[in-house]
Amino acid sequence: MSSDSQYTFQGWAARDNDDYKGSLKLQSFDPKPWDEDDVDVRIMYCGICGSDVHVLSGAFFPVSAMAPLICGHELVGEVIRVGSQVENGLEVGTIVGVGAVSNSCRECEYCVEECEVFCKKRTTTYAGVFHRGNGAGYKTKGGYASHWRGPSAFAYPIPAGYDPACAAPMMCAGITVFSALRRFGAGVTAKQVGVIGIGVTTISRGEAKRQEAAKLGSSNYIAVSDDVATSVKGCERTLDLVICCTGGSYTDYLKLLKPRGTFVQAAIGTSPVPISNISLITGGLTIVGALADGKAEYKDMFDFAAKHNIKPWINRWDMKDINKALPAFTNGEAKYRMVLVNTENGGSL
Ligand SMILES: [Zn+2]
Ligand SMILES: [Zn+2]
Repeated sequence: MSSDSQYTFQGWAARDNDDYKGSLKLQSFDPKPWDEDDVDVRIMYCGICGSDVHVLSGAFFPVSAMAPLICGHELVGEVIRVGSQVENGLEVGTIVGVGAVSNSCRECEYCVEECEVFCKKRTTTYAGVFHRGNGAGYKTKGGYASHWRGPSAFAYPIPAGYDPACAAPMMCAGITVFSALRRFGAGVTAKQVGVIGIGVTTISRGEAKRQEAAKLGSSNYIAVSDDVATSVKGCERTLDLVICCTGGSYTDYLKLLKPRGTFVQAAIGTSPVPISNISLITGGLTIVGALADGKAEYKDMFDFAAKHNIKPWINRWDMKDINKALPAFTNGEAKYRMVLVNTENGGSL
């Protein structure tokens, strides 16, 4: 129970590595101690990211070490309290989104550039620790919850008229792909672009998404099976840029690249990936990691998305059904980005 506000902070918490299989428990928790640059957000929506499941399954550290672990870094909601030093022009009633990073030192070269993700003292939105102010030492809690409290500088206003449910996946998945497409010249220097996991070419598991990909404007579709090497046969050396949004091995996907092509790894995986030096060198290939930079990029993305009416396709799930939603996600039943909805906070199913 929060001791200093009129509302209770509640979240869907994991205590062990297996809880994500259907045993998250709704519990009250104390928010971080209030700082005057904080906001409280009543969470309406939160997307489910693959990283959430990696963390919840104990891939990086035992869940018990961070218990109660409340994940979710694609949260969107309404500001219901602001401090006297509020940033980003936020007011009570502003609809905001919070992504994977929710604090940083504000002083280093990366913070000055508004690329806070590279700050050595960045704080992740869940399973992190705040380093500043009254909240120093507090273990962060994410968006699988009723409310979020954190620095207003990391709560980004959603453009008026933009569906807040669609804004949720933009906070991690959307910004990651936007960042990679822009940084590596999609449509400018890279004419033939492939995106694994969802471009011009969509590369996805099986045939299920072929028609949807066409509706989304994708002009080509490569259906892959577990045997990626065979799946990509006939499509070798066709793409300038491949953006990989899945975390598995990408060795065989490199064959899709034209000489001097670029492969962008944009999703976290847990296993090392073997790379052939010969194909790398003889193809003149570039392999690079990418993630969203920070504040400046969020603004650019939402300006672009609002101007061109770009929205993700989503599957909405009542957050109360999170213990069904997460197993559905891990079983590969998510056709589109899954978004958890808090109907009691104004979210629409
Ligand atoms: Zn994510
Ligand atoms: Zn910094």
